Amino acid sequence: MFSITSSTTVGIEAVPVTVETDVSNGMNQFTIVGLPDASIKESRDRIRAAIKNTGFPFPRGRITVNLAPADLRKQGPLYDLPIALSILATRGEIPLHTLENTVVLGELALDGSIRPVRGVLTTARMAQRIQKKIMFVPKENEQEAAVINDLAVYGVSSLRTLIDHLLHRITITKTMYVRREQKTEEQMCFSFIKGQDFAKRGLEIAAAGGHNILLSGPPGTGKTLLARSFPSILPPLTEEESMEVTSIASVAGELASSDGLIETRPFRSPHHSSSAVSLVGGGTWPTPGEISLAHRGVLFLDELPEFPRHVLEHLRGPLEDGVVTISRAQATVKFPARFLLIAAMNPCPCGYASDPKRRCVCTSFQRQNYEKRVSGPLLDRFDLRIEVANLSKEILLSEVHSETSVSIRERIVRARKKQADRFFDSACRLNAEISPARIEQVCAMTPSAKALLSLAIDSQSLSPRATSRIRKVARTIADLAESESIEEHHLAEALQFRGQRLQQD
Ligand SMILES: [Zn+2]
Repeated sequence: MFSITSSTTVGIEAVPVTVETDVSNGMNQFTIVGLPDASIKESRDRIRAAIKNTGFPFPRGRITVNLAPADLRKQGPLYDLPIALSILATRGEIPLHTLENTVVLGELALDGSIRPVRGVLTTARMAQRIQKKIMFVPKENEQEAAVINDLAVYGVSSLRTLIDHLLHRITITKTMYVRREQKTEEQMCFSFIKGQDFAKRGLEIAAAGGHNILLSGPPGTGKTLLARSFPSILPPLTEEESMEVTSIASVAGELASSDGLIETRPFRSPHHSSSAVSLVGGGTWPTPGEISLAHRGVLFLDELPEFPRHVLEHLRGPLEDGVVTISRAQATVKFPARFLLIAAMNPCPCGYASDPKRRCVCTSFQRQNYEKRVSGPLLDRFDLRIEVANLSKEILLSEVHSETSVSIRERIVRARKKQADRFFDSACRLNAEISPARIEQVCAMTPSAKALLSLAIDSQSLSPRATSRIRKVARTIADLAESESIEEHHLAEALQFRGQRLQQD
């Protein structure tokens, strides 16, 4: 019997899978056991064809392949390559010792070439953890594996080249990690947006403390432009965050072949026709959805009320916990989903309810219906609500350039540094994530700030959740101002951004 180490990914963690192969005398038979799903059954045909087309006879007799541990569900075609190698090894075509300390994965095409698979980065992290030294991966996935230090990664394009390499007939060059150019030029700068100082200030606060933001206003006022420019003021990902973001993209099959580590924050903007599964993740074999692909970055939902309400309701849990849990009969899978939500909406179906210059043609019934499409509890999770108005002619024609994103980002980086120092001993990173238990200690207010909040609770009948969210925003405003405690004007600004309930007239 011969065994090779491969992997399976649960959530964004890979766990080792051992591919054991035994050939014995008897009727010609080729079975794969160990809870293989339908796709693994198909891989039998691919393996058989690939071995033959690489120039080896397919062994006679009873071939049994076991993928262990058996109780772990395994997915997809990534075991083609380790299975093919183990079959050849049992026949003595490859010396056994060449695959010690090695992790192998890859899909085979019928002609023996090797196709890319998902989850190579998570597998490489696993290989490092279990102290394997070598990894053979599909050529197209080599960069994501090469991200991991202390691991000799070889990108292989066909079964033939890999065998020749193992037999020392040729030498495949070890893959060197090439840090790719990060696309920064695509980002829009805040200085290109005229006016909108209130909205820009709101976005700055949101970026500094990780708060969710709702932009509302008539069509054409630049809500989408503001949202799309938002990544330009976000600080770069830390190394650890890069690893998380890239792992999710790898598991979702969203990494391009030249991609190594993703170093810019994700910005995802799913269409309102997206299904619940594509938004939050799922499927028979759970894959991450948009909210996980937006992890450590931005999820932008344009035309929020157009999203079906039952789809939006799935966001509530992840917005609180930063994680999405997908339950399946065999296992429960968790994907990280710590994203900043930006949503945009018109104030009413025709769009002009808040526009002083145009008349809204909606009936009050239509308006109420429109607002009802977004539930109160979801609306409650928007810490900053910003009315984006049409610009006056004077501002439109003015040539004054406003502050650049680079200089705004400097303040945000400083405010985030303060938060990092404050939360060094907990999983929390940003003010928006402060737990109820810590809020009193962390969001201390001056007496006059306290008095103002008490007034607001009465006059606006604020819920406890709303109150604590306002305090967290005020904490961020104080951090931006480099103030230790929350003062009255910090709280006043937070209240101003909370606004009144949308369209209550
Ligand atoms: Zn209207």
